[in-house]
Parts: sequence; structure tokens; C-alpha cells
Amino acid sequence: MIKKLSFILLCIVLSDYLYAQNLIIKGGNIVNADSNIAIPNNAIEIRNGKIYSIGATTNENNFPTITLQKDDYILPGLFDLHAHLKLVYEGQLKEDTVTTPLLYLANGVTTIFTCGDVDPEAVAKYKSNVASGRSTGPRILNSGPYFGHGNNEWNDSISREEIYRKIDYWAGRGVDGLKVKDISEHQLKYIIDRAHKHGLTVTGHLNHIVHPEVGSQIAIPLGIDRLEHFIGGYALPGKKPGYTEVAMLDLSDPLIDKSIDLFIENEVYFNSTLTVIGGFTQSQDEWLKYWVDEKKYWTPYAQSIVENNPKKWNPNRQKFYENSKKILKRYYDRGGLISMGTDGPLILDFLWVFKTPGFNTHREMAMMSEIRIPNNEILKIATINSAMAMGLEEKVGSIEIGKLADLIIIKGNPLEDIYFTRSVHTVIKNGEIYDSQSLLEKCEGKLGPESEEKWFNK
Ligand SMILES: [Zn+2]
Repeated sequence: MIKKLSFILLCIVLSDYLYAQNLIIKGGNIVNADSNIAIPNNAIEIRNGKIYSIGATTNENNFPTITLQKDDYILPGLFDLHAHLKLVYEGQLKEDTVTTPLLYLANGVTTIFTCGDVDPEAVAKYKSNVASGRSTGPRILNSGPYFGHGNNEWNDSISREEIYRKIDYWAGRGVDGLKVKDISEHQLKYIIDRAHKHGLTVTGHLNHIVHPEVGSQIAIPLGIDRLEHFIGGYALPGKKPGYTEVAMLDLSDPLIDKSIDLFIENEVYFNSTLTVIGGFTQSQDEWLKYWVDEKKYWTPYAQSIVENNPKKWNPNRQKFYENSKKILKRYYDRGGLISMGTDGPLILDFLWVFKTPGFNTHREMAMMSEIRIPNNEILKIATINSAMAMGLEEKVGSIEIGKLADLIIIKGNPLEDIYFTRSVHTVIKNGEIYDSQSLLEKCEGKLGPESEEKWFNK
């Protein structure tokens, strides 16, 4: 029995590497976010999916070699901590473990945290399929189900014991962190305490509908690790959802800085998710625009839904977006920790100007550049900061000997212009090489519901 158990454990520990490869990358330039300059690459040697050496190699084992051009730049794989695999249409939410993950990977996103699963079983199964090489996709860090009213089955009378049981179950199933959405103060406390006992981080979408009064000012003293969407806990009245209150916020209110300082003192990370906030608006900001024909990846049916329906705009969203950008800049300038989170699944319900998962990670980076966060800091946010926020900085997030070989190759120096990250053409995950273009071609016409019947009957 013990022997069998240790074999299973070994498989889990090693599963990341089973399909890993050996490889030499010659030429091009290395951009590690801790430095402000790109360094010409002599050679990166990858053995068993890990970075074995940087600088020189004799290639005595005759590993396959890729040779890059002068205008190629090698970056750590991108890391999206507020990613989803879900599709949303007509109030139905489903996890898409076929097309959405390929779009992330094609865009150079080598690790995602799913940040609230509507079908946690489906995501858990997909995660193990990716880890064992049966499915293609980014490394999946899963959250399990939403805790709080973000989950339809939630109610405020769920006891501490029940909450503990639920967390123990999902921790035992190997989730990588928890997501709370719209929760009471006392339940939030139970969740954070129990998650930390299991070594799991907790992130939150707070200031929501049932408990708008619970925001960063309550969650941070309770020990939450990250927060999504809203910063200004003390400054928000807590009467209405955060979207509305941030839109109405007086930006000269000193309580905003007090809230920011609470993040800083407690080393809490913030995911701005401005991709989805800006996506709700009619903004003509450059960073939000399409730079390739993203719609061609959607099913013809999804395209027709968008074309045949008038867009409904809520002017409050515009103000929410404008204020969120300004608060994020202030947060950055004061020294707040930021990780990368886009929150951009394909949602067909609100008739937004739809944006596509994976591409959104580049949008979020370009938005940060627009508010004048320096490019090397943006790259840090999208790589090592996000790894640190999940406690994975020893494993991924930078190009260092001993780390997993998660690399992307782009055309153009992103330290000069962050928009160059959009030119990713080669993605390496665990030493395995993927051609972005071929991944994208597999996605054409596939994202979203196939037809009314299939969507509702499945
Ligand atoms: Zn989300």
C-alpha cells in the first residue's frame, strides 16, 4: 500500500516534466524583468524541461537547436492570475477546456490561475490532463469553486464547520488557491484561516452585491493575499457594488491613500483587471483595440450574436474605468504590489465590445504602459510578480538556471515598446515548443457556443 502511494505521489510531482524536452536556444536577446536592458543570448540549454545553463553550451548531447534572429527577444512565459476558462451566454456558464486554453498558450501565457471555477470538476480534470501531456494548454493552477455569493448555492448561514469541510475537500483535490466573491466578514475570516492552514492563498472579488460593505479594509486585516478589481476599501461607502461606488468616488479623498497603504503594509497583491473594466465601455483607448482579427476565432454563431444585437452601454462604467486607471497609477506610484490579472473570458451576455482570452493579457500590459508604469516593471508584473503572488517564484517567472523552461519569443524589444509582446511567435512550456500561429489556426471558428440548440442541450 505504502509503495503504491509513493508511486502515485511521484507521478504527481513529476507530471510536469514527463513530456518535457531537451533543447538549445541560440541567438536573439534575453529580457529578464529584473533588468532594464536586453542581453544578447549566446545559448540557453534546456534539459528535461528545465533551464540547465545560460551563456555557453558545448551541446555534447546533440540536443535539437533553434537559432533566433537579432530582433528576437526571449522573455519568461506570461502568467495570468485572473484567467477563466469559462464561456458565458444567456445566463449559462460553462468551462471551455478546448479552445480558450489554446488561445492563452498561443499568446505566450504559460501559466494561468483560473480564479473561480463554475465547473470545478471539469477544470480539475483538464488540469491533470495538461500536466500529464494528454491535453495542450498553459500550466493550470485551479481555484476550485467560488466561495461566497459568486456561487449560486452559497448562503450566509453556511457554518464554519461546513466551510472548513469544503476547503479541506478542495485542498485535498490539489487546488492552488481559493477565490472568494461577495462574502460576509465572518465567513471570509473562516475561509482565510482554513486556506492558510493548507498553504493556499486567497484572492477576492469583494464590494459586490450582497456584501458591498466587505472590501479591502476588512479583508486585508483578516489576512487576504490578493484582491481583484477594487482598491479603495476605506473610501467606498459600502452601500452599493464597487463598480458604482468607484465611479462616484471623489479622487481627492485621502481615504484612497489610506487604503493603498493598507495593501502596501500587508504586502497584498492587486489584480487591476482593466481589460474587463475597459471592455465594458465605449473607450477608444489604443490599448483596448483589436490588433488582429480576434473575431475569426469565435464560432460563426457567437459572431452572429454580437452582430445582430444592439450594444447597451451603462455610462457609469465609463467613469468606473477612468477612475480605476487613475487609482491604479496612484497605487503603483506609492509602491503597491501588482500582479497580472485580466478577467477576460468570452462573455456574450452583456454585448460588450468582446475581447478574447489570451490576447487580453497583452491588453492589460499595454494599459499599464498607458498609465506610465515603466515597461520593465510591467514585464515583472506579468511574470515574476505573479509567480511570487502564488508562492511559485522558485519554479517559474524568470529565466534562471533551475527554473522550468517557460519562455516566449517575440519580435522587437518590449523594454522599448510594450506593444511588441503582441508579436509572440514561439512559446516554450516545460521545454516543449509551440508555434503560436499553428495553435491559433486550430482555434479558428471554435470559441463560443456552436448553436442555440447545442449550447442549451449540452
Ligand atoms: Zn473573474
